Amino acid sequence: MTDFKRTKLELPEGRSKVLMHSCCAPCSGEVMEAMTASGIDYSIFFYNPNIHPVREYEIRKEENIRFAQKHNIPFIDADYDMDNWFDRVKGLEDAPERGERCTVCFDMRFERAALYAHEHGFDTLTSALGISRWKDMNQINDCGERAAARYSDLVYWAYNWRKGGGSQRMIQISKREEFYQQEYCGCVYSLRDTNRWRREHGRERIKIGVKYYGQEETLGEDTPR
Ligand code: SF4
Repeated sequence: MTDFKRTKLELPEGRSKVLMHSCCAPCSGEVMEAMTASGIDYSIFFYNPNIHPVREYEIRKEENIRFAQKHNIPFIDADYDMDNWFDRVKGLEDAPERGERCTVCFDMRFERAALYAHEHGFDTLTSALGISRWKDMNQINDCGERAAARYSDLVYWAYNWRKGGGSQRMIQISKREEFYQQEYCGCVYSLRDTNRWRREHGRERIKIGVKYYGQEETLGEDTPR
């Protein structure tokens, strides 16, 4: 963990046990280190059936497991029920990023996380999703709160992980740990749209499994998607 001096985090309403939904190692690294430094009891919940193709999914998951094991943080590896994800976003294939398809996608992931939290004695739900500047934090918090509201024993902790230098530390940690650097949000539609943008701007298509933080050529393009 870093030697940065942190402010001690307090959980809402005197809560004590956090389930953190994680989408990838780069986004969760800073969140994990912040909670660990504050002595918060938490586990990681990896439920991301939105990530395609499966090779990309496995790489992102394995990177997250590697970092969790390094710091002895419990890691819950949930289903990869891709078919359900495609069913839920049917008709929204052409919605833009941060649009309606993403709301459905966040809802699905938070609903599963909230159910797990409720069934396994967690009283607080949070997520690393909002730390990326590519995401709409209000959209994510709305989805998290909606999911947690299904259970009277659960609250959503809408902490802004970007503040107080969190965004910068996310990058520093990613470089220090040489995390895999994904180049699109996750689903086939975001892969399609990012490749379309690249083609229009004279850039190469995304190559899965090749880019890692800390390598010379990744410097300057450093925010997780
Ligand atoms: S762009 Fe990202 S958040 Fe939106 S639907 Fe695709 S994977 Fe989910």
